[in-house]
Parts: sequence; C-alpha cells; structure tokens
Amino acid sequence: LLLLGIETTCDETAAAVVRRRADGSGTILSNIVLSQTADHAPYGGVVPEIASRAHVEVLDRVIERALRSSGVKLVEMDAIAAAAGPGLIGGVIVGLTTAKAIALAARKPLVAVNHLEAHALTARLTDAVPFPFLLLLVSGGHTQLVAVTGVGEYHKLGGTMDDAIGEAFDKTAKMLGLPYPGGPAVERAALRGDASRFALPRPLHGKPVPDFSLSGLKTAVRLEALRIAPLTDQDVNDLCASFQGAIVDILADRVRCALRVMRERGMKPSALVLAGGVGANQAVRRVLHKVAADGGTRLAVPPPELCTDNGAMIAWAGAERFALGLTDDLAVSPRARWPLEEVTGVEMAD
Ligand code: ATP
Ligand code: MG
Ligand code: FE
Repeated sequence: LLLLGIETTCDETAAAVVRRRADGSGTILSNIVLSQTADHAPYGGVVPEIASRAHVEVLDRVIERALRSSGVKLVEMDAIAAAAGPGLIGGVIVGLTTAKAIALAARKPLVAVNHLEAHALTARLTDAVPFPFLLLLVSGGHTQLVAVTGVGEYHKLGGTMDDAIGEAFDKTAKMLGLPYPGGPAVERAALRGDASRFALPRPLHGKPVPDFSLSGLKTAVRLEALRIAPLTDQDVNDLCASFQGAIVDILADRVRCALRVMRERGMKPSALVLAGGVGANQAVRRVLHKVAADGGTRLAVPPPELCTDNGAMIAWAGAERFALGLTDDLAVSPRARWPLEEVTGVEMAD
C-alpha cells in the first residue's frame, strides 16, 4: 500500500509518503516537515492564528515536495490520509480540507487519522511490534498510559490530572528564560547541570493507578527559582537537571505501575512503546529502556525525529487503518478534541 499523509494539527506543516507491505512492515519514501518554530518563538508558545495562516501558505508546497522526493505519483497512491484532530482547529481544517480536495480530484479514498493514534502506531513503522503493547504517550498536549490491543483499540490505564509532560517542559523552560520549544532546551541545559542540587517532588509516586500530576512539580521549580534569584547560567542548568531527573523518576514509577496493571488484567505486552515529542528526550529513553527490561519486556521507540510531529506518522496510521478496510467519508469533520478512547478500530490481540 502507498499512502500520502498530511499533518497540520499544531505548528509543524508536514507531508509524507509511506509504503506498508502485507507483512506489516513499512518504509518511509519521503517525509517533509516544515516547522513554524521561528514564527512562534517571539511569543514563547504556539499562536493558533499564526499557525493556521502559516499552514495555508506552505502546505501545497510541502505536499508537492513530499510527492516529488518520494518518486511516487499521486495516481499510484492507494489512499490519502490527514490528521483530523485533536489539535488547533484552524490548522486541522487546513490539512483535512486539502486532503479531501486531493482525494476527490484524484478519486482516492480518504483516511481521517487521529493524531494521537498516529503517535501510538509509529513504533510499528520502525519496528515489528505486535499487539497488545503498553503505550506511554508523552507529548505537548497529552500524557497517558494505554493498553493497545489493536488498530483503533485503546484502553486507557491512566493519564494526567493536570499538565501534560511536554507542557511541563515548555512551561519550565519559559519560566527559566530558555527558548521555545522548551523540551530540547531543557534537555540541553540539563546535560551541564547537577540533578541532585534541588529536591523536587515526585507526585503520585507509588500510587496503584498509573496516573500523573505535574503541576506541583512545575510550582516547585518556580519556588526554587524565586528563592535563589537572580539566576546564573549554572543555576538554570541545575534546575533543568533536577526537573528532568524528577520527570524521569515519575515516568519510571508510573510505567512500572502500568506494566503491573496490564499483567493483572491478563495481558502480556509485546513491548513498551514510547510515543510523542517527549520521547525524543535521551534521558527518558534511557530510563524506560531499563524499566521495560526489568519488567520482562522491551522498549520500542521511533527515532527522535519521528517522535515529534511529522507526516510519516499520519501516512503510516492511515495505512494501518486502510489495510483493515477503515476509510472515511468526505463529510468527516475536523475535531479540536478527540480522545484516543473514541477512536474506532479492530481488536487484534490474541
Ligand atoms: P499532541 O501530540 O499532544 O497534540 P504536540 O503535537 O504539540 O501535542 P508533539 O509534537 O508530539 O506534541 O511534542 C511536542 C512536545 O514535546 C513539546 O512539549 C516539546 O517541548 C516536547 N519535546 C520535544 N523534544 C523534547 C525533548 N528532547 N525533551 C523533552 N521534551 C521534548
Ligand atoms: Mg510542534
Ligand atoms: Fe503530536
């Protein structure tokens, strides 16, 4: 199968062409990501109106480039996939409407992909990961532990009660005067910092349900920063290292808990899948590698550039759905809010 995928839910304008073989393996033929980081940087976060305008301006060219560098013609595609949500609604409308127009003009089926499902399934593009698996989704807007038993079959085990982890990285960075986007900036600063200098909280540590709470950690960083202000570069590095150390501990504890819950429910996960932008963080990848091994499974995580938003993940999720006969009507609506549990699919765990 050959699919074109379009991603416009946040501040990346992206398009890709992906092939999926009958044995479930996949190849990325092209993957063009145009980040709007520079447009939003002066504001310290994504400005929705600027984002949708930027998508309108560049999406045509991004799709053209993805097609050209893939060497595949539009007529050869089996279907057109686009992220139909969740995300900033202006951007979602731009991407989904463009995909509908292409599908209509080229007489191709449309697959409306949930952006979170795309993050979740990307590990199956880069690695052979059978169902069921445990998904840790840690992105800019979401933090969840999910038992995945098939394409579109998502059983939430726990989630955040307040901030998402990516959001905690972004807010911490902003608070400490680091550039947007915060995750990579905090990770860089943490490399030069002392993680033991500040004693920060690990909320919900040891609790039997794999939920998260991040707002107390964020507040603790703020209070420490105020206490020692004005901050030197070393102070910032030490705060980042201590913050990232707390995040790593929290993730390890909550994933151990989720692995336990999954076993209690009689499911044996083929892997721990790490997905979403925070999955690009090397310290997070390192600790979860160990947690998975200790828990009798293994870590499956895409390369960092496929953890953050991209078109290949949309094309791939579209291909996984299309392979099961799941396509969408051209009347399908864009959705700002679209929880994973509301995605429909096909049960595949044995
Ligand atoms: P969602 O997928 O929930 O709709 P999103 O699409 O904005 O949100 P992603 O692109 O998946 O989120 O991830 C972006 C988030 O990942 C940001 O919060 C960013 O700070 C964080 N992030 C990116 N790289 C790193 C890193 N190296 N370390 C920690 N966090 C990171
Ligand atoms: Mg982004
Ligand atoms: Fe995302």
